[in-house]
Amino acid sequence: MIPSVLPTYNRAPLSFVSGEGSWLVEASGRRYLDLGAGIAVNALGHAHPDLVAALTTQANALWHVSNLYNIPAQQELADRLVAATFADTVFFTNSGTESCELAVKMARKYHYEKGQSERTTIIAFEGSFHGRSSAGIAAAGSEKMTKGFGPLLPGFKHLKWGDHDALTAAAAEADVGAILIEPVQGEGGIRPLPDQCLKGLRDLCDQHGILLILDEVQCGMGRTGKLFAHEWSGVTPDIMMVAKGIGGGFPLGAVLATENAASGMTAGTHGSTYGGNPLACAVGNAVMKAIADDAFLAEVNRKAALLRQKLEGLVAAHPDVFEGVRGSGLMLGLKCKVTNTDVVKAGYDAGVLTVPAGDNVLRLLPALNITDEDISEAVTRLDTTATKLEQA
Ligand code: PLP
Repeated sequence: MIPSVLPTYNRAPLSFVSGEGSWLVEASGRRYLDLGAGIAVNALGHAHPDLVAALTTQANALWHVSNLYNIPAQQELADRLVAATFADTVFFTNSGTESCELAVKMARKYHYEKGQSERTTIIAFEGSFHGRSSAGIAAAGSEKMTKGFGPLLPGFKHLKWGDHDALTAAAAEADVGAILIEPVQGEGGIRPLPDQCLKGLRDLCDQHGILLILDEVQCGMGRTGKLFAHEWSGVTPDIMMVAKGIGGGFPLGAVLATENAASGMTAGTHGSTYGGNPLACAVGNAVMKAIADDAFLAEVNRKAALLRQKLEGLVAAHPDVFEGVRGSGLMLGLKCKVTNTDVVKAGYDAGVLTVPAGDNVLRLLPALNITDEDISEAVTRLDTTATKLEQA
């Protein structure tokens, strides 16, 4: 008999009843150090007092009004994002997938309105992940996600990660309208795009009149030690997808764009019942207040260096389990020699939560405000995990 919840997830046999900072607690009282943070969602950890206060204050005042009306918290959050980024304008969604949908629509509408309606093709990359909608799976293109769900949304061309010649040739095609890429691939195995490649992509886009869409759903919102990962390279996108960390655990996403890239999106061309609702935006404002702050981001970078250094030691101590550390900021991956999902499972016994990713990588995406003590404890627990696997 089919389970009452559609069985599309491979769930671990764990259920949590509460959370606090970087810790999750089961009904039995057993505590787990959470290095997954809801897959880069709980950017400020669990039950952060400022987020709890923002949500409960808003919940006592007003839960929802339609986008038929002005929503002051939404306006405030848009102003904050515009002030802190390349963007001139923001549309709020409820997830990364929805942000992908709008990014694709926005790019196509842009070229249509410029009289170049043939420029519908979007270049994307192998190993990428952009969500599970029809556009999201077509954009990522991997058989794992698309098999059985055809006919796929047309208009995506997939290139190998790092194949510069193929990219240069593809960008010169007359039907190409946008390039879509994650500055740090998350699901694909924590693969950062080198800064010079992002610069090269920007140049290529400028040369051919192509829009650059960055998917910062996983790597954005302070995760790499800048508010958005592309800031390390010094170049800016035309359109950016955001979600996960921006809501700190409340469903919220956004598409940020320049005025030029957004010029086709006039009244009636897009909408969402819930997108940018008062509850989500109240939390989003509290998240932005905390993260879009130089002192906070400096701490992320300090903690990232500390964690990375300890992970290098872990790899050196367990050369049969781990091969190396990769990633940026607090978006780190341990390339495994044993099967990554075995490490994740063994971690449960040691009370540490990690997330598998592609390329046999173990993902570590802790809360950005994880304490130094919790970083040390996390690596101790990963050490116990690796020792167990060596003895097995
Ligand atoms: N894009 C990236 C880079 C992601 O990592 C994800 C989710 O993991 C998505 C898009 C889809 O986001 P959501 O699951 O919120 O729809």
